[in-house]
Amino acid sequence: MSDCIFCKIAQKELPSEIVYEDDRICVFRDNAPQAPVHVLIIPKKHIASLDDTSEEDAGLLSYILLKVKDIAADQGLADGYRLVVNCGEDGQQTVKHLHFHLLGKRKMTWPPG
Ligand code: AMP
Repeated sequence: MSDCIFCKIAQKELPSEIVYEDDRICVFRDNAPQAPVHVLIIPKKHIASLDDTSEEDAGLLSYILLKVKDIAADQGLADGYRLVVNCGEDGQQTVKHLHFHLLGKRKMTWPPG
């Protein structure tokens, strides 16, 4: 999608610190980190939010979830981590391209804010 900042990051049209990518996903550091490790995992395919996924995305979504442990290990998160997906207005999603926040290297609190 031409005006999507995460599509532009995945296409290297905007600068970012990419820590992993393959043909289906791109992983880069959040530019306003909420933990010592805070990366965003995005599908290269433009999907606006979890609400916009369908059966045809089942393989991509399971691929992302199965990749998380490898990305976490690469980021040194042996003691655990948190994976967050914000969706819609109440979920406070600000960028309308599906992304998974992977946060670690600090103790998380519950409930989240
Ligand atoms: P959300 O509020 O769940 O939509 O999360 C969007 C995230 O994208 C926030 O944590 C932002 O800090 C992050 N973000 C926005 N623009 C950029 C960018 N250009 N590079 C890296 N992270 C970004």
